[in-house]
Amino acid sequence: KKAGRQKSAAQKVLTANQGHKARKRFGQNFLHDANIINKIVLAINPKEGQNLVEIGPGMGAITGPVLEATGALNVVEIDRDLIPRLRTQFFNYPNFKVYEGDALQYDFTQLIDKEAENPAPLRIIGNLPYNISTPLIFHLLSYTEQHLVHDMHFMLQKEVVDRLAAGPGTSDYGRLGIMAQYWCRVEPLFIVGPGAFNPPPKVDSAIVRLVPHKTLPFPTKDVTTFQNVVRQAFSMRRKTLRNTLKVMITAENIESLDIDSGLRPERLSLEQYVKIADFVTDNPL
Ligand code: SAM
Repeated sequence: KKAGRQKSAAQKVLTANQGHKARKRFGQNFLHDANIINKIVLAINPKEGQNLVEIGPGMGAITGPVLEATGALNVVEIDRDLIPRLRTQFFNYPNFKVYEGDALQYDFTQLIDKEAENPAPLRIIGNLPYNISTPLIFHLLSYTEQHLVHDMHFMLQKEVVDRLAAGPGTSDYGRLGIMAQYWCRVEPLFIVGPGAFNPPPKVDSAIVRLVPHKTLPFPTKDVTTFQNVVRQAFSMRRKTLRNTLKVMITAENIESLDIDSGLRPERLSLEQYVKIADFVTDNPL
């Protein structure tokens, strides 16, 4: 009897997704709530002439209204079963371009018009597959570094949005938030419950906006060293800086920067990490 009930729930999801079987390994949870879709598109505020790219268009929930506003959109989708559907669904938009492949491997610079005098920077959007959202955000931050990004709007697990926006002294604070905040202003927008998706995920989701800083609030001398220091510091959250960072900088030198080397990594501000990184750049061990 129980199996029968489960089957009918699965059948409902299948019907709602127009016969496409949602694939777990691609993190497929398709948006179906018209109010939420509307709210997301309002937050993105797409306009004609802008350079929009969507990661994981899926069944086109966000794709449709964005295309309607801009008439042009690039999408990157890994699930090859969805590609012909998307092409058919939006065949009347000649400037709708579908790239089949993995967004983690995709070279986003190909979407920048290198011939143009003032090429339009990327507006990246996506209801991201939860299983790759963190590496994908790190990947996309590298385009921010190259000044190719106007802004980014993502739907993520709420927990990931909390980590992106977290400040020092909280358990959510870590490498993801520090690197995102180094490059961008992070604006959590609103929470989306599981009911907005087919199939519903187990946790809450949230929409976040990332806007690259025009001038970096705390520029570092060497980004790679900065990244290494932050990674090293958070490699053992429960240990003190003097312990985790000893391969890069001595406790005395941490203290010379007016930073208590007995602190745990989550106590330090972004600015303090930049201070340590710049010292390490100038005085490598
Ligand atoms: N945008 C749709 C929506 O809101 O209903 C679908 C969102 S679903 C959470 C994630 C989408 O990303 C799926 O279409 C999935 O196939 C696609 N996807 C998963 N991994 C991907 C990857 N590595 N590169 C590109 N697309 C991916």
